[in-house]
Amino acid sequence: MCGILGVSGLDGASRIAQLGLYALQHRGQESAGIVAVDPAGQARVHRGMGLVSDVFSESRLAQLTGDVAVGHARYSTAGSTVLANAQPYLVNYHEGPLSVAHNGNLTNATALREELVRAGAIFQSSSDTEVLIHLIARSSAPTVESQIRDALEQVEGACTVVISAGRTLYAAVDSRGFRPLVWGRIGQGVVIASETCALDLVGATDLAELAPGDFVRIEDGLVTQLAPLAPRPRSRCIFELVYFARPDSRIFDRSVDGARRELGRALARHHAAPGADVVFSVPDSANVMALGYSEVSGVKLEHALIRNHYVGRTFIHPTQSLRVAKVKIKFNPVREIIAGRSVVVIDDSLVRGTTSKGLVQMIRGAGAREVHLRLGSPPITGPCHYGIDTPTSDELIAANHSTEAIREYLGVDTLEYLTLDEMVDAAGPRTGWCHACFSGAYPTEIPTDLARHRHDAPPMAASA
Ligand code: AMP
Repeated sequence: MCGILGVSGLDGASRIAQLGLYALQHRGQESAGIVAVDPAGQARVHRGMGLVSDVFSESRLAQLTGDVAVGHARYSTAGSTVLANAQPYLVNYHEGPLSVAHNGNLTNATALREELVRAGAIFQSSSDTEVLIHLIARSSAPTVESQIRDALEQVEGACTVVISAGRTLYAAVDSRGFRPLVWGRIGQGVVIASETCALDLVGATDLAELAPGDFVRIEDGLVTQLAPLAPRPRSRCIFELVYFARPDSRIFDRSVDGARRELGRALARHHAAPGADVVFSVPDSANVMALGYSEVSGVKLEHALIRNHYVGRTFIHPTQSLRVAKVKIKFNPVREIIAGRSVVVIDDSLVRGTTSKGLVQMIRGAGAREVHLRLGSPPITGPCHYGIDTPTSDELIAANHSTEAIREYLGVDTLEYLTLDEMVDAAGPRTGWCHACFSGAYPTEIPTDLARHRHDAPPMAASA
């Protein structure tokens, strides 16, 4: 998964991009990069592995001069943690310097790549984003704008992008609208980003959101709406609201905090644990869900799991045993809250079950009398092909086990999930969501070998 960002018409654009990327760090911790374009049209890039704070020293930033910038923070699927896949990509094509920051996964990238290779294209990596660049560069359309449009119309899947071509920025959200993109103004300039929390940090105002299919041009801080991309049924990623986005953001025209709180309220309404003494969350993504649960059920809210915030995900390719150890590094229970009590533990989702199993052992070890686990989403039964880093089906515990078998494995007294309908109701409108990882209803065609490609591909393979 990734966070992307663009700046136009603001001196010191790379510094603004760096600040914005700090606020998008939760969307990707493996690598970060910024391209800056100066008034003469010269583009410079710096990309590195690790957190935004590790990648950009003062001297690096000082070299990234200009009033236009594109930024990216990346988290990839396994096997692709290499600098070659760090974004934004910067290339020189026939119209000048072109940089691309992409959030999402394309579902027809393999087919498009094969066609391009047959036509003579040479690839540096196996990332989806490079496919997009080749499509732009090889388009026979007459203008930069129409070349980009041509490429965007050919790709399937999740494609939210910020692109610089010369000194002009282009931004687009694919017509299904899987991933968010918002923008705001700073004086005469414009900042565009994956989430509003990045716009807040840089002091942008007059915030607005790109709708699915929106395609805009930004020149010297002036935003021009271009003709939208060909319409498709909407499929906003509901997991952005459940887990991924920050609660202080507004995306998909709603508050993430509000949606997540509503998920917690729905848990209390439909899946209460009678006789419980306290409720607490697995921090941080489920914090507001626990608030919602407490508000509706009247069960006292506590902070019983303390999270160590200094444990990064950078460079870790977790094996199963490492993951169990990681639970202890990451969380510790407060015994005084838990001992002798019947507790409700709220988490947003269950993926492999390893974190939860470790946590339950910890909570039992702290003396809990009863443990009732509640999940603010339904069982995850399939991988995401649109950019969320979920494992393949064989690693997803709910893909292969009944709820009762999972309850037993985790060692909890009761285990309940929100149903698909309950989750969708809590999120807002009834339609327009992608919930394929829960329902199996993938909104695009999925080539049969796609999941295998993503996870078994050589070290250069990438998702954005
Ligand atoms: P587990 O118990 O191993 O299934 O892990 C569940 C935890 O993983 C929950 O606390 C979720 O917040 C978190 N989670 C959900 N999706 C992801 C993801 N794509 N990447 C990392 N963590 C996730």
